[in-house]
Amino acid sequence: MNKHVLLTTTAVIRLFGCEKIEVTKLPPWDNERMKEVYGGKGAGLIRMADYLGLPVPPGFTIPVQFCEEYYANGKKLPRSLKREVRKMLKRIEKKMRRRFGDTKGWPLLLSVRSGARRSMPGMMNTVLNLGLNDETVQALARASGDPRFAYDSYRQYIAMYGEIVLEVPANLFTSALDHLLETRRIESESDLDADDLKALVEAFKNVVTDTGKVFPQDLFDQLMNAIVAVFDSWMCKRAVKYRSDIDRTISEDWYTAVSVMAMVFGNMDETSATGVAFSRNPSTGKRGLYGDWLPREQGEKVVAGTHETHAITEADRIARGSTKPSLETAMPKIYAQLRAHSDLLEHEDRDMQDMEFTVEQGKLWMLQHRKGKRTALAAIKVAVDMADEGLITEEEAVCRVDPASLDQLLHPILANPESMMNILTAGLAASPGAVSGEIVFNPEEAEKLASEGKKVILVRIETSPEDIGGMHAAEGILTARGGMTSHAAVVARGMGKPCVSAAKNMRINYADRSMMVGSFKMRAGSPITICGTTGKVFIGKVATINPELPEEYHIFMGWEKSFRQMRVYANAETTNDVRTALRFGAEGIGLARTEHMFFEGDRVMAVREMMLADDEEGRRKALAKLLPMQRADFKEIFEIMAGLPVTIRLLDAPLHEFLPNTEDKIATVAKNMGVELERLRRRAQELHESNPMLGFRGVRLSIVFPEIIEMQARAIFKAATEANFSTDKDKPVLLEIMVPLILSKGELDLVKGYIMETARAVEKETGIKLYFHIGAMIELPRAALLADKIAQTAEFLSFGTNDLTQATLGISRDDAGTFLPGYVKKDILPVDPFVTIDRDGVGKLIKMATELARVEWIRTDKIATIGVCGEHGGDQVSIEFFEEVGLDYVSCSPYRVPIARLAAAQATIGAIKGDQTK
Ligand code: ADP
Ligand code: MG
Ligand code: MG
Repeated sequence: MNKHVLLTTTAVIRLFGCEKIEVTKLPPWDNERMKEVYGGKGAGLIRMADYLGLPVPPGFTIPVQFCEEYYANGKKLPRSLKREVRKMLKRIEKKMRRRFGDTKGWPLLLSVRSGARRSMPGMMNTVLNLGLNDETVQALARASGDPRFAYDSYRQYIAMYGEIVLEVPANLFTSALDHLLETRRIESESDLDADDLKALVEAFKNVVTDTGKVFPQDLFDQLMNAIVAVFDSWMCKRAVKYRSDIDRTISEDWYTAVSVMAMVFGNMDETSATGVAFSRNPSTGKRGLYGDWLPREQGEKVVAGTHETHAITEADRIARGSTKPSLETAMPKIYAQLRAHSDLLEHEDRDMQDMEFTVEQGKLWMLQHRKGKRTALAAIKVAVDMADEGLITEEEAVCRVDPASLDQLLHPILANPESMMNILTAGLAASPGAVSGEIVFNPEEAEKLASEGKKVILVRIETSPEDIGGMHAAEGILTARGGMTSHAAVVARGMGKPCVSAAKNMRINYADRSMMVGSFKMRAGSPITICGTTGKVFIGKVATINPELPEEYHIFMGWEKSFRQMRVYANAETTNDVRTALRFGAEGIGLARTEHMFFEGDRVMAVREMMLADDEEGRRKALAKLLPMQRADFKEIFEIMAGLPVTIRLLDAPLHEFLPNTEDKIATVAKNMGVELERLRRRAQELHESNPMLGFRGVRLSIVFPEIIEMQARAIFKAATEANFSTDKDKPVLLEIMVPLILSKGELDLVKGYIMETARAVEKETGIKLYFHIGAMIELPRAALLADKIAQTAEFLSFGTNDLTQATLGISRDDAGTFLPGYVKKDILPVDPFVTIDRDGVGKLIKMATELARVEWIRTDKIATIGVCGEHGGDQVSIEFFEEVGLDYVSCSPYRVPIARLAAAQATIGAIKGDQTK
């Protein structure tokens, strides 16, 4: 039972910076492997010190396996550890010519630093200045000739050790400090003299003993306890939460390495300093060092954000309008060395660097390096520049940018994203972009005001399908409830409109046309600004800017194309959206939802008339009103997209989204149609459905009322004919007609018959031959199961993954909010299937249907395409899956087109690489 678990491990504690080793005698550098074993920080230190010959204080790294063994044995230290640490310590002492625990000369002090395979910023612990006790502090005071420095280091160390190793609440030390400042009438910490600091040391020791803990005077105990504290911090609450909530790609069983190294002192004198530098600007990507430094300070001060830091370069100092000297002018030699180190590291890593450094009495020491985090803008510029510099290939450049981050570039943003001025509340950053407008609580009012040219923000408790018109008309959407995948969020992202959902402390009173935010009252008509990139909501109009797409963006998106296999289309039906899609590089329209064309103005009235008519004649009358409107829209879309495929989906209007839902509206429709109110009310009741999404919609409408298809097909064909006249000969209209909610070949055959009949009629009338394809949407499991049969008639297939997911899981997206998050939390489903395709279930159907259809098409020598047009078409992980299945295209909302393009290119590159390693 008590047997000590020994992991079969070959990893050893690794010294660094202790002796000059010929690089040729070392095994070749394997970055990934070294990070796995020694953590990112440890690997970086080993590489800088021993492989690149950079100045790094000597030290050693305990590999992650020791931490794993520690946990495997119920938090008991691996047996060999103490002995090994003693041995390594000797080597550092020798190199530094300082002794750990020296009471005569300068005592060796250490830092004990955490570091897992990938960084989890601020989640784990680091202990600095370890090696001080009542005796060594005196030695340090004598050796440095600066008692103030020695006791300041000691008191900081007791507080740090107390907090991290002994778990004494940090605020107890702050109170003790405040108390001392008060009793001695001292203004600020920096005015404390050596005697004050000595007193503070005693006060801090008392804080520790008062909590029943002991601050050990034995220095080796201090060291081992600090190592344990770092091991423990792998499982501390915030680190566990970070891995479960924020970054799920960091695995619990990676564990942390521990690096122990000699301290260097940035706080010694005027020739000492500390700082953090990037090899290029992390917000813009501009070449050259960028960062912050502080003279006469130790490292944590720069990161803590408590001090006003100085700029590294002179140019940046001027840009910041700072009077604090730059490192470039204050320490030109150090600056030049840092630049050289930075260039070397960039060259070795072939990526932008984030470096921590300290200067002790005019000597530069490197303390950490890693790949620098950056904005999308910087990522693109760095990738393009590095490819130009020959540091990376174009293929690598394409893989260097996170597709999702492109979203940052495409929407207006706050001119000052940090500003908290006039902030009203904050919620979830549900759909990016910042916009201003006046508050409107009612969707119809939103439409009305927008048609008068006013800019409005639709504010709702939450939104529902009936609000679509208002959402369309609004600049942005703000809701009090909901989440990242609730109706408002999903629809807003689809429309490319900013949305903040689940705003805190917001109570809306529709009747009073007002809302309370905390104790603050806002009325309809007052201006607000919402920022869906940050989730912030402001009172009044806040300045926004349109982020300029830099030259590098266009170069970058030009490279992407040469690697990508799948085409990227857009889901769009308004001419505005179609133009946006084209501007973002859409290679076709994969889904034009004709019913969305009816949301505008008085068109919805004609739709209602059509639906409520109880005979063919009534329907034809209403349809005759719709026809010219649709025809004009179609023509414009064909013209904009000349030479590229345009997929028009026949009407798929779930009745409940269009039927008048109030007495008022029913009365207006009755008046327009010239029928009695009572008759219309009865008809509306007849048409009422308990499950509209499983009801009378999609192709079912056309089966029962063929005149609907006839009207639509006619409008489409006429528009195509006209557009073909106005566009270039070599850019013809490429028309694809798509039939929604198909569940059998029979339906498609019937509908195809109607469409062909209309085509022949239009050809006869105009004397012009029509070219087009007819295809089916696969959005029901039955259609996927019978894809080979449907493919006999269809000339293309498109997976409507939203409905397919709903139908396969039997979960309505709009009702899933109450239980679906629980499924993901409890790992029953790996992800929200409405965000990322459910590989195991829906994915299996997609794969099977694709194979069935392809076999059928090959058998009959038919050239046909197969793609996706659901929300998943714009989701990176789903796109990887679609690439794997071998689809021809994905179609997504216009604002996601660049993201999908890049994701698809990366998926192709990844797939090819995967094949090579197999
Ligand atoms: P984090 O992972 O939170 O960045 P680090 O282990 O990098 O923690 O330590 C934080 C800071 O402490 C570093 O940025 C550096 O300035 C300082 N530091 C760490 N080790 C040393 C050392 N040996 N000498 C001087 N300063 C150090
Ligand atoms: Mg660090
Ligand atoms: Mg559908």
